[in-house]
Amino acid sequence: MITDTIAAIATALSPSGIGIIRISGEEAFEVANRIFKAKSGKSILEMASHTVHYGHIYDGDEIIDEVMVLLMKAPNSFTMEDTVEIDCHGGVYVMNRILQTVLKNGARLSEPGEFTKRAFLNGRIDLTKAEAIMDLIQSKNEAARKNSMTHLKGDLYRKIKALREDIIYEIAFIESALDDPEHISLDGFHERLSGKSVNIIKEIEKLLNSADNGRLIKEGINTVIVGKPNAGKSSFLNLLLGEDRAIVTDIAGTTRDTLEESVYLDGMTLNLIDTAGIRDTEDVVEKIGVNKAKEALEKADLMVYIVDSSVELDENDKEIIDLLDNSKTIVLLNKSDLDVVVDEEGIRKIFERKNSNSDLESDNFNSEDNNLKNDYDVKVPNFLTISAKEKEGLDAFTSLIKEKFFSGQISFDDEVTISSLRQKEALSSALQSMKMVQQSLEDDMPEDFYSIDLMNAYACLGEIIGEEVGEDLVNEIFSKFCMGK
Ligand code: GDP
Repeated sequence: MITDTIAAIATALSPSGIGIIRISGEEAFEVANRIFKAKSGKSILEMASHTVHYGHIYDGDEIIDEVMVLLMKAPNSFTMEDTVEIDCHGGVYVMNRILQTVLKNGARLSEPGEFTKRAFLNGRIDLTKAEAIMDLIQSKNEAARKNSMTHLKGDLYRKIKALREDIIYEIAFIESALDDPEHISLDGFHERLSGKSVNIIKEIEKLLNSADNGRLIKEGINTVIVGKPNAGKSSFLNLLLGEDRAIVTDIAGTTRDTLEESVYLDGMTLNLIDTAGIRDTEDVVEKIGVNKAKEALEKADLMVYIVDSSVELDENDKEIIDLLDNSKTIVLLNKSDLDVVVDEEGIRKIFERKNSNSDLESDNFNSEDNNLKNDYDVKVPNFLTISAKEKEGLDAFTSLIKEKFFSGQISFDDEVTISSLRQKEALSSALQSMKMVQQSLEDDMPEDFYSIDLMNAYACLGEIIGEEVGEDLVNEIFSKFCMGK
């Protein structure tokens, strides 16, 4: 176990009211004692745990800052190690100067996420909680915050743990029965395990299905707005970004020449791809070319197609419709305040015709087959009538997105949602192993044959909570944290 003493600035590196320097490890108190003089004259080494003390930080004889020092003795701290927090003035230079002094007096600069890593290594939190902390810090909207809190409360941990307990019970049962066939009978075991593995598979699949929601909650819904020139794209964008409720952030797009903005819509985040094209009131397709538009559309979870319903559809519209993925599309029939000449029916037909040209042929569509028919039915866009100019339709648009992406539910209080790719991969492997167990049961294979698969599933689930992870993975996970966390 590593116990050396680490230190970092735990607050933002920008001028602010208060800054915090955090020190953790075996010598945290000694290090702090070397540089802190309490007003009371007491030494830190004589002070009680969980107390706060006023005094000054010294670098040699020189006073650096006037501070409060907070002491937490192991194991009652976040890292479960002796921890000292120095509350100083929140100037960037002052914080750095204090940190340098701390480092000069026996601590080493922490790695990103090293405090949380220690909390994990010392058994205070499992990996799902560690990742939840990172997600919480990075959460961009209310839904993401709620979701990370669910993980932080341990809901995912408990769920995974319960699945593992189910599995290990069966493994143990097989092992004991094979060891001691006289006393432990495997009669009826296949049926029981089969029932159980069906349940386990269902639970894992449910978690995996939540992963997409998890990504959309955490990272936002990648949204592309398209429509021919003058359809009202920039007016709609302004409505989205409008006045009091939208907080707009400029973030660099994934490619250099695109601009992405995020808009917060009732707890959800829409990442608007390529708003540059829209802002110039030129058509995205026209401005950046069909290939670029296709690229943008490839990344999209949501395609908002704006139609000027006061003029007839033309070739432009047909070209655009060809590029869209029906199931991801919301068609906004804009300019409802004018005399309307296009309606839902007409546009729906073009979308459907496109379906019948491409999907149906390649899917070998057969109208007798109900499954395929349903599949086909799903691939129709959603329609909404709006007036960007009159600012009408935004509420309906918001509800539709909730319905479309989160089945109307965006409060995940009682639902556990997977939000990390790492967790998703481990779950997929666990699922695969469990399906192999199921297959062996169906093929009536001997018990020792599938106990290996059960073991694999058990191990993969263990990876999620951090009970079966190597040092490399742990290091990789925590390196994504910010400094001082
Ligand atoms: P863009 O080229 O697709 O970005 O279209 P704009 O947003 O620039 O809109 C083109 C024109 O249509 C502007 O004169 C807008 O004021 C007008 N417009 C946009 N939305 C509406 C609407 O809902 N009703 C009416 N009457 N005019 C609109």
